[in-house]
Amino acid sequence: MAEPIFVTRSMMPTKEEYFAEVSDIWDSCWLTNMGTHHRKLETQLQKYLDIDSIALLSSGHMSLEAAIQAFDLKGEVITTPFTFVSTIHALVRNGIKPVFCDIRRDDYTLDVEKAEKLITPETVAIMPVHVYGNVCDIEGFDRLAEKYNIKIIYDAAHTFGETYKGKSVVSYGDAATLSFHATKVFHTIEGGAVCSADSSIVERINKMKNFGIVDEEMICEVGFNAKMNEFQAAMGTCNLRHIEEEIQGRKRIYQEYIDCLQDCKEISCNYYKKDVAPNYAYFPILVEGDLENRDKVLEALKKQNIYARKYFYPLISNLLCYKGMYGNELLPVAEEVSRKVLTLPIYSSLKLEDVHKICSVIQQILKK
Ligand SMILES: *Cc1c(COP(=O)(O)O)cnc(C)c1O
Repeated sequence: MAEPIFVTRSMMPTKEEYFAEVSDIWDSCWLTNMGTHHRKLETQLQKYLDIDSIALLSSGHMSLEAAIQAFDLKGEVITTPFTFVSTIHALVRNGIKPVFCDIRRDDYTLDVEKAEKLITPETVAIMPVHVYGNVCDIEGFDRLAEKYNIKIIYDAAHTFGETYKGKSVVSYGDAATLSFHATKVFHTIEGGAVCSADSSIVERINKMKNFGIVDEEMICEVGFNAKMNEFQAAMGTCNLRHIEEEIQGRKRIYQEYIDCLQDCKEISCNYYKKDVAPNYAYFPILVEGDLENRDKVLEALKKQNIYARKYFYPLISNLLCYKGMYGNELLPVAEEVSRKVLTLPIYSSLKLEDVHKICSVIQQILKK
């Protein structure tokens, strides 16, 4: 049987490259607490992402929690049920009531018009997700921020390195958080970041992630521990050297899928807006028609040792820990999309012949 194909494959520098990057750590014995590797990656990411300030953290999840705390958010935050559970956990763990809002059918991001209808005097922020690297309606959310005086914090875990209208995607909104988990386009094994044009927010997060320590005798607030360590930062530095190749490689896979599947009536592919320079983080398809078709495709691929994923099913609002707890706003589009969606394998070292095989398995099973 052929090697299993998973939905993604972590980017890896060569052993030699990583060992060369970390070898000085054996001289310094400086393993964490904002050492030279942390500072180096910080500077490199500022430049690569074309932003003024960035705080590096131990994970994407802690980046979300840190952003929520840095803005002192309390009350209600409007967000999407069509995301990874981390987005909602971060809100709830900080005492916030998530208000689930429906998504758009064309790009699966939070629907601005529907979000506006859910704004109440308790609403302090909106947390949209640039899901699959599809950039949200940024102008729409900017308008709501201004009209209602609320914050916009983007969960940008899927949009590393993307631009919208020529500007870094993470420069929009009051803040944007990134995930550098091993399964993401760019990774530091585990890791994440908060980007904000407001440097005081980034400074505050940099203290918070280290217990709120200002200096030996001064602790300014109730912080936590979410520092990125030196080995993580060094992995980031290595991966950043090859990120363009990774994205170009993914683009090739993306285009091959589009070529193979665009005429398949039962499949809807994901297209990017023309103003977006994408990173090809995911290749979601909707399996249209009979609702059983999606699982049929999933099973047929599994038989060939190919593991697509149902990102994002079930909806967060249907999970055991959230069901019925945060209102029962109707979410018809999100319900439909989550029941039809399947994300197919995409990463730069995936072979074109594997893409052809995946597409022919899909077309075969849908013909039956
Ligand atoms: C991966 C991810 C997170 C969490 O990031 P971690 O680095 O795994 O903690 C949050 N939100 C979204 C949308 C994600 O995909």
